[in-house]
Amino acid sequence: MRAFSCVLEEGDALLEFAGFGGSGLQAMIQTENLGKRYGRFAAVAALDLRVARGDVLALLGPNGAGKTTSMRMIAGFLRPSTGHARVCGHDVVREPLAARRALGYLPEGAPSYGELSVAEFLAFAARVRGLTDISGARRVDDMVERLQLQPVLAQGIDTLSKGFRRRVCLAQALLHDPPALILDEPTDGLDPNQQREVHALIRGMAHDRAIIVSTHSLDEVRAICNRVAILADGQLRVEGTPAELESRSRYHRAVSFRAPASALARELLARLPEVETVEVDPVSSWVTVFPRAGQDIFHAVVALLEAQRVRVEELRLEHGRLDDVFRQITRAAEPLPAVAA
Ligand code: ATP
Repeated sequence: MRAFSCVLEEGDALLEFAGFGGSGLQAMIQTENLGKRYGRFAAVAALDLRVARGDVLALLGPNGAGKTTSMRMIAGFLRPSTGHARVCGHDVVREPLAARRALGYLPEGAPSYGELSVAEFLAFAARVRGLTDISGARRVDDMVERLQLQPVLAQGIDTLSKGFRRRVCLAQALLHDPPALILDEPTDGLDPNQQREVHALIRGMAHDRAIIVSTHSLDEVRAICNRVAILADGQLRVEGTPAELESRSRYHRAVSFRAPASALARELLARLPEVETVEVDPVSSWVTVFPRAGQDIFHAVVALLEAQRVRVEELRLEHGRLDDVFRQITRAAEPLPAVAA
């Protein structure tokens, strides 16, 4: 665990904010009882989040779960009905300027000022951020290069493709090199090559920043996030590392294999005392053998397949599946099993 300091100027005072990686003493982004009501409807309720330096937290949830509302409140663009949000120790309502200085925010959708060219927009964004000297111009150049915006610099924002608009927006969010980042669906509309580039960019920045990313892509979670929070109906339903969440899936410690003509073997596998059930995916033909709670079935399954001389083409021990956990949590009716030891 490595200490760090993020020094921010506020008036004449120099505030030194201490944070720690992983289970940090003080989080760089923190919410307490954060909530937003629209009349009697609670879009977000009692949200408690702590994001430390080095964390990339994925905010997941079905459409309408409250991800964007939460992010807009943390970014200071939407006034909470209850609770607080702090960025590098600054309350986003009571100290909005200091909080915004420490935060880069990529909102949903496209940038405003669509009539400006990309170059004009980024120069404007740099001025708004107080980056007026040569170092500001260098930051713009750096972002243009990292997000590969050279081909569209002279083009009007309104005329850009969706992917380029997203990249311009991301460049704007990163211009002032903030220690905390809120990225609402950063790769929405990007082609697979650009998604990889943005993932590499986020991974490269993560070690000395606290980052929240909302996404609908579980591949994206695996690519860049070390923590996951799942919202449903405005409430935080579960939070942990991807591995912790995977261990709560019914696929945890299941054995999957692909083999032709294995009907008899499947029947025999289903009769093993430590096996709960055997399922076949009708599309991929993969067979999955699910263990009874707490059972380790790997060696028994392999031994039976060998004894039956099944020609296995592929075989794997499952860690668990995030999509399965997501489905269980957001369907609400199905209780989640406890985290496996
Ligand atoms: P998505 O995945 O579709 O982007 P989300 O998780 O980001 O969804 P939010 O946009 O935060 O969800 O919306 C949460 C809930 O709050 C939704 O039911 C939405 O309709 C509602 N909501 C958002 N803004 C308002 C508003 N201004 N007035 C009333 N309800 C609102």
